[in-house]
Amino acid sequence: MTTISILGSTGSIGSQALQIVEMHPERFKVACLTARARKDLLFEQVRKFQPQMAGLTEAIPLTEVPADLRHIQWVMGPEALHVAAAEVPADQVLVSVVGIAGLQSVMDALEAGRQVLLANKEALVTGGHLVMEKARRIGKPILPVDSEHSAIFQCLQAAGPNRPTGLLLTASGGPFRTWSREQICHATREQALHHPNWSMGQKITIDSASMFNKALEIMEARWLFDLPAEQIHVLVHPQSIVHSAVMFEDGAVLAQLGVPDMRVPIAYAMSYPERIPTGSEPLDLFRTGALTFEPGDPERFPALRLAVECLNAGGAACTVLNGANEEAVAAFLGGRIAFGDITHTVEYALEHCPGLPAETLDDIFQADAAARRAACAYLSGLKGA
Ligand code: NAD
Ligand code: MG
Repeated sequence: MTTISILGSTGSIGSQALQIVEMHPERFKVACLTARARKDLLFEQVRKFQPQMAGLTEAIPLTEVPADLRHIQWVMGPEALHVAAAEVPADQVLVSVVGIAGLQSVMDALEAGRQVLLANKEALVTGGHLVMEKARRIGKPILPVDSEHSAIFQCLQAAGPNRPTGLLLTASGGPFRTWSREQICHATREQALHHPNWSMGQKITIDSASMFNKALEIMEARWLFDLPAEQIHVLVHPQSIVHSAVMFEDGAVLAQLGVPDMRVPIAYAMSYPERIPTGSEPLDLFRTGALTFEPGDPERFPALRLAVECLNAGGAACTVLNGANEEAVAAFLGGRIAFGDITHTVEYALEHCPGLPAETLDDIFQADAAARRAACAYLSGLKGA
């Protein structure tokens, strides 16, 4: 029996992980569940999965916890993440919260010697060197949940001692793949939230439309697979069937294919190195039709260029990109700025926060705060902000 704690259990990834647990009750037992604010859904999950501990990072009075759920340990407030990641024993910790909040949780879980299943790409974007170093020290590799990184990880199972010469990181291209730069700049919230292939949380859906998601994934791949930005190539593939691929010296390219269904990479991380049923449709290549590929376009999607610039700049540049983007996406979702302003906000923050260090967790949190201050200063100057 594998015990698993899920940080961010009410989200898109967290709830799909619980579907896998539900399909395999003989294999998985839930240790902890945490959410930010969706208390009613969390209560339902606690009732069903009977964890040892649960918590809401946006605290509510314990008197609001239904009487039949009070027998477990409840932790309210930001401390809930730490208790779930490090204090309550579990074999695996799935970090599926949104944003830089995931970094501390990943470090806490590794410090406690837990196997980390990582959906939260922001932890690697901001603190990749610290996370990978700690994972190496405890001898438990980070198991990626992000579909592209899971695909690469799966392909690498066949690599033996051979180092890849490059990674092909696929991208659906999002809802604006064929739009002009001008059209993209004025896209509405509804248009940006309409992803052609994947159903995901709001933040990552907006990031998929701007391709900031792919920018974050280039950074995530850089740390997970220890390759420089120049060897990580974005390949736009609108059908989202090839989830990514790995290139080798002899010219061979290994790819992982499947229908777009996050339960597959989630379950692979949970059951690695075994494969278990996920409820996903098998891929039927006889009916899939044409698979097409095109290069990513940094002109219309400047996030792709910014990712490489930030990785090459080093220090806390990636943290600044991430923090400013989080602020800008929140402003866009709040109807306060145009879609094109997301990129302008990130560029402004990068210009105004150059050369910040990222030696320690504290450095990273300070760089994140500086990026958010710069982003907010820029956003407050925009018309209608
Ligand atoms: P979501 O918004 O659907 O869910 C996020 C969960 O985390 C919720 O339970 C929420 O209550 C909790 N949460 C959010 N912010 C928090 C905070 N600051 N502190 C504590 N808890 C918080 O998000 P999601 O789409 O499931 O994505 C989760 C992570 O996985 C993100 O980092 C995302 O980039 C990554 N990811 C998601 C997908 C996907 O298909 N949804 C795919 C790849 C990677
Ligand atoms: Mg992805």
